[in-house]
Amino acid sequence: MKRIVVVGAGTSGWMVASAIKKNCPGVDVTIVYDSKIPTVGVGETLTFFMPHFMKNVLGLSDEQWMPQVKATYKTGVSMPGWTAKDSEYQSGFCLDFPAEFLASNKFNNLAQEKNCADMDQIDHYTKGGIVDLWCSMYQNGLLGDVTGNDLIASTGEGYYFSRDRKSIRDLNGTWLVNPTVGYSYHYNADLVGQSIAELVGKPSGVSVIDSTVVSVETDGDNISLLTLKDGSTITADIFVDCSGFHRLLVKKIPFTWEPCDEYYNDSAIVGPLHYDNTDNPAHCISSNSTLAGMDNGWRFSIPLTNRSGNGYVFNSRLGHNVDQLADELSSVIGFTPPNGFRHIKWDPGHYKEMMVGNCIAFGLASGFTDPFDANNLSLTTRIVKELVDLLKANPASSNLDIANLLNFRAKFYYRDIDMRVKSCLRLSPRRDTEYYRLMADVAEKTYLKEQFIEHIVNTRKRDFNNQQKFLWKSWTHVALAVRYGIKLPDVDLSLAPLAKQYFNFNKTRCLTIANRAPTLNEYYHLN
Ligand SMILES: Cc1cc2nc3c(=O)[nH]c(=O)nc-3n(C[C@H](O)[C@H](O)[C@H](O)COP(=O)(O)OP(=O)(O)OC[C@H]3O[C@@H](n4cnc5c(N)ncnc54)[C@H](O)[C@@H]3O)c2cc1C
Repeated sequence: MKRIVVVGAGTSGWMVASAIKKNCPGVDVTIVYDSKIPTVGVGETLTFFMPHFMKNVLGLSDEQWMPQVKATYKTGVSMPGWTAKDSEYQSGFCLDFPAEFLASNKFNNLAQEKNCADMDQIDHYTKGGIVDLWCSMYQNGLLGDVTGNDLIASTGEGYYFSRDRKSIRDLNGTWLVNPTVGYSYHYNADLVGQSIAELVGKPSGVSVIDSTVVSVETDGDNISLLTLKDGSTITADIFVDCSGFHRLLVKKIPFTWEPCDEYYNDSAIVGPLHYDNTDNPAHCISSNSTLAGMDNGWRFSIPLTNRSGNGYVFNSRLGHNVDQLADELSSVIGFTPPNGFRHIKWDPGHYKEMMVGNCIAFGLASGFTDPFDANNLSLTTRIVKELVDLLKANPASSNLDIANLLNFRAKFYYRDIDMRVKSCLRLSPRRDTEYYRLMADVAEKTYLKEQFIEHIVNTRKRDFNNQQKFLWKSWTHVALAVRYGIKLPDVDLSLAPLAKQYFNFNKTRCLTIANRAPTLNEYYHLN
C-alpha cells in the first residue's frame, strides 16, 4: 500500500490529506503536525474552483461545513481605490444558471437562447471569445451607451447579486445558480482545516500524529526519514510538505526557488473586526471580498458571519512606516484591534516545481507571492485534484509520473498568477502617491501591458487546445479593460450585431434573476 505522510495541519494540510484519503482509500495517509506551532491564521477568500473541490472532491455539502466555520457565499469582488483614490468598482463572478431554472422562469425565448448557444460556439482562440468581443465593442463604442458596470454585469453574472446583497439560494435553500461552479466562499482560516479534518479526513481514515518534526534525513533527491520529538521515526513513499512558511521538507530537497522581483509585496498587517453591539452583521455581511487600492499597497476585507478579516498588504522594502500604514488602515475600516494589528512577513516567490524526488509541496510551503486574487489555495486545490485523479486512475503511479504531471500543470498556473497579480497591482492609472508612480514606472520598463495582452492570447490558445472554456470569461482582463482602459487584442467584429443581442439578453436575465432572489439579510435571518 502506498504511504503518504503530510507534514502540517493548516488549511492546506487537511485539504490535501482528506482529499487523497477520501478518494483513494487504498492509500495510507498520515498527517503529522505540532499543535503548539500555530497555523498562519489568514487566507479567507477563495476562488470559484472551491465549490467543486468541497463538494465533488471532499464530498461535503455546504450545510455540513459552512456554519461551523462562519462561512459566507462569495459572488464578486468590490475593488475601490484603484483607478483613483475615491473610485468604486464592482465585479461579479461568472455564475451559471441551471437550465431547469431558466426554463421554469420563462427566460426561454427560443430565438435568444439560440443566439446564446451560437455565441458560446465562438472560436475564442482565433476570433476572441464573447467577453473579448464585448470588451472590444465597448471600447469601440459598438455597445451603445452601456456603462463599464453594464459590461461587468453581463460578463460576470454575480454582479447584481454582489451589488444588491442578494443570496444565491432562496429561503428554502434551493439553488438559484448551478451549485457546483461559479460562486465561492469566505471562511474562517483558523477553523476550516479542523472542520475538514472532523468531517472528512478522520472519518475516511487519515492517521494523526501530534508531534514536532525535529529532523529530516535525505538520500539524494528523496526524503528518507523524519524524526519526531519523542525520537520516533517515519518513512513514506511520498512526503507532502504543508508546513507553511517553515518549509521543513522542501528546503532539504533541491527544489528550485524562483524569487519574485523586488516590487512584489512582502508584508501584511492583519486584524479581525468582530461584529458586536456596534457592528450589526446585517450591515456587515456581504457576498463581496473587498480588495482596495491604498496609498502604499492594497487592503482586503473579508466578510464572515461573525466578523470580517482585514489586512493591509505592502512592500516593506519601500521603507514605509508600519505605524502609519496601521493608521491609514484604521481610518478606512474604522477600528483598531485591541492588541494592534498582527504583522506577517514573507519572501515573495515560489518553487519552480511542485514535486522533486518523493517530496510534494503544497500551500505556503510551495511558495507565496501576494495574497491578491486568493491564488494560494486555488493552486493547492487544483493541483490536489489532479493528484487525486491520477492516483484514482492508477494507484501504482510512480513518483516520476506524479512529478511530471504536477510540475507541468504548476508551470501554467504560476505564470497566470504572476500576470494577474502584476497587471492588477501595477497598471493602475493612479499617480497620486509615490507608490503608484513607482508601480507605473516598473510596468513601463518591463512592458507589462504588452506582456499581459500576450498572456491573454496565449491563455486562449492553451484553453482552446485543451478544449476548455474556463478562463475565457476571466474577470481579470474584463476588469483591466474597463477599469484601466487596456485595449484587448483585436477580435473579429463581424459578429458584433449578434453579440449585442446576447449582451442585452444576458444583462436582463441576470438582473431579473437577482431581483427575484432574497436578500442576504433574509437568507442569514438578520434584521
Ligand atoms: C496576509 C495573507 C493573506 C492571505 N490571503 C489568502 C486568501 O485570501 N486566499 C487564499 O487562498 N490564500 C491566502 N493566503 C494564503 C493562505 O493563508 C494559505 O494558503 C493557507 O492558510 C494554507 O496555509 P498552510 O496550511 O500552507 O500553512 P499553515 O497554516 O502555516 O500551517 C502550517 C502547519 O505546519 C505545522 N508545522 C510547522 N512546523 C512544524 C514542525 N516542526 N513539526 C510539525 N508540524 C509543524 C504547523 O503546526 C501547522 O499545522 C494568505 C496568506 C497571507 C500571508
